[in-house]
Amino acid sequence: MSQLLDNLNPEQLAAVTLPPQHALILAGAGSGKTRVLTTRIAWLIQNGFCSAQGILAVTFTNKAAKEMLTRLSAMFPINTRGMWIGTFHGLCNRFLRAHHREAGLPQLFQILDSGDQLASIKRLLKTLNVDDEKFPPRELQHFINGQKEAGIRPAAVEAWDDYTRRRVELYMEYEAQCQREAVVDFPELLLRSYELLERNEPIRRHYQARFRHILVDEFQDTNVLQYRWLKLLAGNGDEGCACLFCVGDDDQSIYRFRGAEIGNMRDFERDFKVPAVIRLEQNYRSHGNILDAANALISNNSKRLGKSLWTDRGAGEPIRVYEAFTDSDEARFIVEEVQSLVREGISRSDIALLYRSNAQSRVLEHQLFSSGVAYRVYGGLRFFERQEVKHALAYLRLIANPDDDTAFTRVVNFPTRGIGARSLEALQDAARTWNTPLYQTVPHLSGKPGTSLAQFVGLIERLRQETAALPLHEMVDHVIEMSGLRTHYKNEKEGQERLENLDELINAAANFNAEVGSGERPADMGTDTGTVLAEFLAHASLEAGDHQADAGTEAVQLMTVHAAKGLEFDVVFLSGLEEGLFPHENSILESDGLEEERRLMYVAVTRARQRLYLSFTQSRMLHGQVRYNLRSRFLEEIPEALTKWLTPPNPRRSFVSEPSPRYYNPGSSKPAAPSMPPPPPQKSRDLGGLSIGQAVSHIRFGEGVIVAAEGSGSDARVQVKFAESGAKWLMLAVAKLTPIG
Ligand code: ATP
Ligand code: MG
Repeated sequence: MSQLLDNLNPEQLAAVTLPPQHALILAGAGSGKTRVLTTRIAWLIQNGFCSAQGILAVTFTNKAAKEMLTRLSAMFPINTRGMWIGTFHGLCNRFLRAHHREAGLPQLFQILDSGDQLASIKRLLKTLNVDDEKFPPRELQHFINGQKEAGIRPAAVEAWDDYTRRRVELYMEYEAQCQREAVVDFPELLLRSYELLERNEPIRRHYQARFRHILVDEFQDTNVLQYRWLKLLAGNGDEGCACLFCVGDDDQSIYRFRGAEIGNMRDFERDFKVPAVIRLEQNYRSHGNILDAANALISNNSKRLGKSLWTDRGAGEPIRVYEAFTDSDEARFIVEEVQSLVREGISRSDIALLYRSNAQSRVLEHQLFSSGVAYRVYGGLRFFERQEVKHALAYLRLIANPDDDTAFTRVVNFPTRGIGARSLEALQDAARTWNTPLYQTVPHLSGKPGTSLAQFVGLIERLRQETAALPLHEMVDHVIEMSGLRTHYKNEKEGQERLENLDELINAAANFNAEVGSGERPADMGTDTGTVLAEFLAHASLEAGDHQADAGTEAVQLMTVHAAKGLEFDVVFLSGLEEGLFPHENSILESDGLEEERRLMYVAVTRARQRLYLSFTQSRMLHGQVRYNLRSRFLEEIPEALTKWLTPPNPRRSFVSEPSPRYYNPGSSKPAAPSMPPPPPQKSRDLGGLSIGQAVSHIRFGEGVIVAAEGSGSDARVQVKFAESGAKWLMLAVAKLTPIG
């Protein structure tokens, strides 16, 4: 027991051993917030303040939840079964499965990740004959999610104009479609749980009585609804109210764009009359120079709750700054440096390459790949979001829930089985008329469409019967085989990687099954085939939506700064420190946006333990265009004494040296940007009437946007970023690309 508290400083100790009460731990990066939260759980249980079942802890990612469970079991023998530790989405999923009836859902409801949700919205617009130029699906998705995240159902939306009224109708139609198909999107998981708790008094009382301690990590990034959900679970101050223990850092609030509400911290203090706000000021992660740089940087923000951080680890190495000519040059420098670090004995997994936007990873990946350095990219397209994996999952989803029209449409003709667009339209018309799911409509369809569709339904029925008694991984294997997916990718020229991913899916199922077998899964979840399959599918959807990294493997870690939150690495390379990129151009013109970018930069810098590299380039190819950027203002905000330039500093390219209207920032007291020579015009190419940025459609890959081009005449190739299947280089003369929009 004393061991548990041995390695804590006095403030951490005070936080961990607070008597049962509400508390807010407000502290900077690397000060041990997550460690305090985990230790507090162990301490509460060990001292009999609460049983393991009485704890509810919310983490930022599934990975963090797992780590917390592992750390807890390492601290003392504890049965982590049945402990409610997870992300908001994960916990709500579990809650809704346990009370699906009361929540108005079938037991085996499926989860739509954000890609599925978009597909579902597109399908809805088509069914209703709505012009998707007037109501772009992505915008509608954003609108719907925004309402849900604020806890607002269609009937409660205040709509003053026709356009909004129409959007609200579509929101309502979308809800009806989801309900019909027994699917639930991410924000719905939370909203449904919230509504259920709010309306169902016995259930509410049950959970309020059960959870005595609710602990929340990364509290600064909770949104309005999440906070209300926590409040409801905690109870509102009657006797028997649970203790809320929240840890956070206002300087690391980076999800404002998704509705995160920093005001939650102040509300929490007020709503719960929090008696204890504890500050932790010692940073255990980073050397002094890195920490000083982070402190100096964030001091440029005006909206802060204010705190300081110190370390006794010594100044350590200076921060290395590198100016490259081009992005390839930058990538080459980074990879060479990585290689020499690895030669010195640093493990690849202790090295992270961070960037502001996913699009920046390509050139780094290319360089790593050609140099034979093992790497792993997080964010972007994660495993469960890949096309082939989603196809396989769609078959499984249909087996679990034939009413899932999103899954039905995805694979009814994949691999191709001669079901044309006409047949599908006939089916959709009939389904609309009878108000039945597509699957159930098939038997009522006559003629040729009826026959081919009936064969598909027959296939799914057969798969369900054949796999009913199989363990999960054999079921997945069987489905991949019998659906024809394996043969399809075997015959595809570049299908090797896709086949490997399908095998990986079988492995994932085997691991999942092993967890069930070992009793690692919560006791309140079933173990019959149907339930395990539904749980596995939920797991896949939740993982796909999880934008944080898994820091484990022996590979260099690549990720966006957002995904790096909460993690730490010995060596961090932060590339692309250019105006327009970081800070991002969308945020540069308003001071709130700029402050959020600066917090993001603060998160990036504070990920490094020992060594930090900052780099920028004079020109960069991004989204198919060469951009000439100034170096980021954030570089200027780091005191010179902390840095060491690996290339001669070039004052002419500094952000603060000359005024320019281009990046004039009305909200900032900083001098404005220097004037820039206009970028040289891009060489115009003969792209057969197409241009970079043009939306196109391809017979096999679907819709996409041209992002790059090379060669000319009959050799011209374009790179198209397809919505479904990612980026591909295509020969213009061969690929039939039809311009759209
Ligand atoms: P972030 O704001 O980035 O999420 P955090 O405040 O949650 O950071 P932790 O991740 O808990 O910080 O801790 C940072 C590092 O410092 C970890 O490696 C942790 O093990 C270590 N650490 C925390 N407290 C102590 C301590 N008292 N003694 C030694 N190491 C510590
Ligand atoms: Mg943390």
